[in-house]
Amino acid sequence: MAQVSTRIANLAVSETLAMSQKSDELKAQGVNVINLSVGEPDFYTPDHIKAAAKKAIDENFSFYSPVPGYMSLRKAVCKKLETENGLRFKPQQVICSNGAKQAVCNAVLCVVDPGDEVIIPAPCWVSYIEMVKLAEGKSHIIHTGIEQDFKISPAQLEAAINPKTKAIILVSPSNPTGSIYSKSELKALADVLAKYPEIIIISDEIYEHINYVGKHESIAQFENVRDRVVIVNGVSKAYAMTGWRLGWMAAPQWIASACSKLQGQYTSGASSIAQKAAEAAYSGDQQCVEEMREAFMRRRDLIVKLASEIEGFKVNKPEGAFYIFPECSYYLGKSYNGKTIGTSADLAMFLLEEGHVACVGGLAFEAPDYIRFSYATSDENIIEAMRRVKETLAKLK
Ligand code: PMP
Ligand code: GLU
Repeated sequence: MAQVSTRIANLAVSETLAMSQKSDELKAQGVNVINLSVGEPDFYTPDHIKAAAKKAIDENFSFYSPVPGYMSLRKAVCKKLETENGLRFKPQQVICSNGAKQAVCNAVLCVVDPGDEVIIPAPCWVSYIEMVKLAEGKSHIIHTGIEQDFKISPAQLEAAINPKTKAIILVSPSNPTGSIYSKSELKALADVLAKYPEIIIISDEIYEHINYVGKHESIAQFENVRDRVVIVNGVSKAYAMTGWRLGWMAAPQWIASACSKLQGQYTSGASSIAQKAAEAAYSGDQQCVEEMREAFMRRRDLIVKLASEIEGFKVNKPEGAFYIFPECSYYLGKSYNGKTIGTSADLAMFLLEEGHVACVGGLAFEAPDYIRFSYATSDENIIEAMRRVKETLAKLK
């Protein structure tokens, strides 16, 4: 019988998107669900960015764009990297893609051969491991917990490296934990990686602007690793543009060229209209970014306070992104109405079905004792969602 390839059969469904879809299905049935599963800003795209997109349509930006993106956008990205991050890249080193998601996947596909290992500190975003699978590589997970603020130590990194290690994927601020590596912590990791010049560092910086502790630090600032860092970023989170699908990488030229070749056969250039909008985002007023950051910070404080009051939750105070990631093992093994909660995925399903709050179990992030709530939503939703979570969890005995 005809069937899908082993590659696709072995690929997991994106749990973040799946939980969000389940939440939408329940909503369509008339259930009042609060969706804290998918991580995306609840704000509308700022007006000046929308205006640039409308103008692009009127000016007939309706043809194929160059595969790596319009030169004007790639230059705007270089300017952003120089002024905000103190990093110099040539526009030729910038490749625009369909979201940061494609940029990470491009990087993985362009450097990983079958059997190669990719180091992934966990808790980690759901898609990294699956991207490595697509490249027929092997993920080498470094586990961390709340007691170390979910950050790997240089010793853990050193211990994970072996002759098969081809790349590492770092993300700061992190999804799902919100943790941020300080400059000195990044330097310590760079000092370890400096000893292994064959390892490519994929640095996912999509949450750069959702940072509550100060200046964004990129591992690319350290000269001893700089020539093998692939920075991934995009407009989805900072400018509330998740649906526009526009991300990019700034990479060593050989990787940028490889990604352009891959995209040329696979997707072509990203949406012409989204690119013009992204150009406006980078070259326009940055006040909107700051306003959204402030709102997220207020909500972070609110949800941390409310979640900390829930029995059995251990909550840390995330320094960035828009997720909390409480330890919830207290509830594993407990039951309600004859149903036992075996895993954090069961717990997330229980909260959705019984409490009408959508979230994502930690298993999908390689952290089975945790559960993720996105707080990119209104204060009212946060308050009501945490009330429901508290009430629903109290039913478990
Ligand atoms: N990296 C991380 C850590 C993310 O959380 C996301 C959000 N989906 C992405 C990359 C992808 O972002 P984009 O929407 O730009 O594809
Ligand atoms: N980054 C978001 C999340 O983790 C969006 C969904 C996804 O692409 O995984 O929820």
